[in-house]
Amino acid sequence: MSEFNLIAKYFTRNTKHADLGVGDDAALLRVTQGHQLAISADMLVAGTHFFHDAPAYSVGWKSLAVNISDMAAMGACPKWATLAIALPEVNEPWLAEFSEGFFACADAFDVDLIGGDTTKGPLTLSIQIMGEVPTGKAIQRSGAKADDDIWVSGMIGSAALGLAHLQGKVMLTEPTASHCLAALNTPTPRVALGLALGGIANSCIDISDGLTADLSHILKASHLGAKLALENIHCDDYLRTHLTDSNIQQCILAGGDDYELLFTAPKSQRDYIHQLSHQLQLPLTLIGETTPQPALVITHHQQALDISKKGFDHFG
Ligand code: ADP
Ligand code: MG
Repeated sequence: MSEFNLIAKYFTRNTKHADLGVGDDAALLRVTQGHQLAISADMLVAGTHFFHDAPAYSVGWKSLAVNISDMAAMGACPKWATLAIALPEVNEPWLAEFSEGFFACADAFDVDLIGGDTTKGPLTLSIQIMGEVPTGKAIQRSGAKADDDIWVSGMIGSAALGLAHLQGKVMLTEPTASHCLAALNTPTPRVALGLALGGIANSCIDISDGLTADLSHILKASHLGAKLALENIHCDDYLRTHLTDSNIQQCILAGGDDYELLFTAPKSQRDYIHQLSHQLQLPLTLIGETTPQPALVITHHQQALDISKKGFDHFG
């Protein structure tokens, strides 16, 4: 199969938001008046970001989902994506499944694939996502204020627990296993939440590297510290029942791959955020507050946890 047939068969679909999509030297887009273009890229490398034998559908879904998540974290509406892919060989069953997962995610979030590049090489996916945000309304990491509430969406730690399960470090039973593997393989970017937080949240980030690491990015950019209570963080029952175990604490605080939104908001927004949670059918949990002192303090039932340990290793 030639490169051009491959692109036509697996990566060419009608577009909704582009004047010209795949097939020419460049795609053509129209940006809505009064909006800024938000652009971000994320690369996934086989063996580093996913296992070589990971289901191709989930590789397709996740490679786009993690990019869409960056739009959600900015309060932007995702619209267009490009896909640069290096393939070691033309494996049609793999490509068919990959493309199915990729477009399932694209359809779910109304994103057009408008172009890309296809080459031979070690399996690597480089996606660029583009979206729109009303001018001046993007939610930046640097916007947090002292005494903001710190909120997190969904459940934290499930993806890390799913990874530990695949690595044989923990043996999960159903329904926890399925829930955690779905969290790892097919994360749901929180686009509707990000859009609803425009003008409400002072700062926002998506949790890709772990709650502590990603919160630290907000705190550093905003020159603040924070106090968090571990027991307030919403997590799977399995994690909750082992909350005193330091490996489980690591899973929740440093696990990563959650793609939930972590955001700060003035205390005056509490009622609105609770209503939003109800409306979106998505847990939004108040886990702490920012402080003028630049330290990050995490407690478990009033006991300070040692979060200085670097070199995260799930379950040792
Ligand atoms: P060029 O020679 O101009 O770089 P290519 O031959 O690389 O063009 O690509 C032909 C068309 O197919 C272009 O419109 C490009 O954006 C698109 N394309 C190539 N690879 C992909 C891909 N993996 N996904 C989507 N579109 C792709
Ligand atoms: Mg090219």
